[in-house]
Amino acid sequence: MPKHMSGSSGGVQPGYWHYLPKPTACEKCRAMEGLWFKERPGPVHPNCKCEVRQEPMPRVGIVNTLQGFEDHATEKFDAGQKITVTIRNLGPFWAGARIWVDRTKWKSTSYLKAGKSEVFVFTKFSELPVPWEVFIIIAVGDNSTLQYTIQG
Ligand SMILES: [Zn+2]
Repeated sequence: MPKHMSGSSGGVQPGYWHYLPKPTACEKCRAMEGLWFKERPGPVHPNCKCEVRQEPMPRVGIVNTLQGFEDHATEKFDAGQKITVTIRNLGPFWAGARIWVDRTKWKSTSYLKAGKSEVFVFTKFSELPVPWEVFIIIAVGDNSTLQYTIQG
């Protein structure tokens, strides 16, 4: 029987800066569009008129479990351009999972011994906040519990 213990939390953290160049701005300034900075960036050039704005970066922190062969879950959330997915086999048997991202890219863990974990990083370059869809399924192993953690 699948048992889902959910401890998911969304939320927003301040602190990412970006340029808002006007359509009439020079090439150098327009090239800055879409880039994000952790620290407030300086002007692109002397007399630069570009606005620099700070916006919240959406964050994700999901912890959940899957139990038994083919148990699966779909997580949809907004986050930054990079997420980390950790799969940990809580045991008692060997097991492995497959992770699908946006129904297009997938990665498989190796056949994990109880207590072992594997970490996967996914990146996607698009406008923030980035919408993600992560599907995780236990692909091998019977009656083991896998914990997945999604952070970004
Ligand atoms: Zn300029």
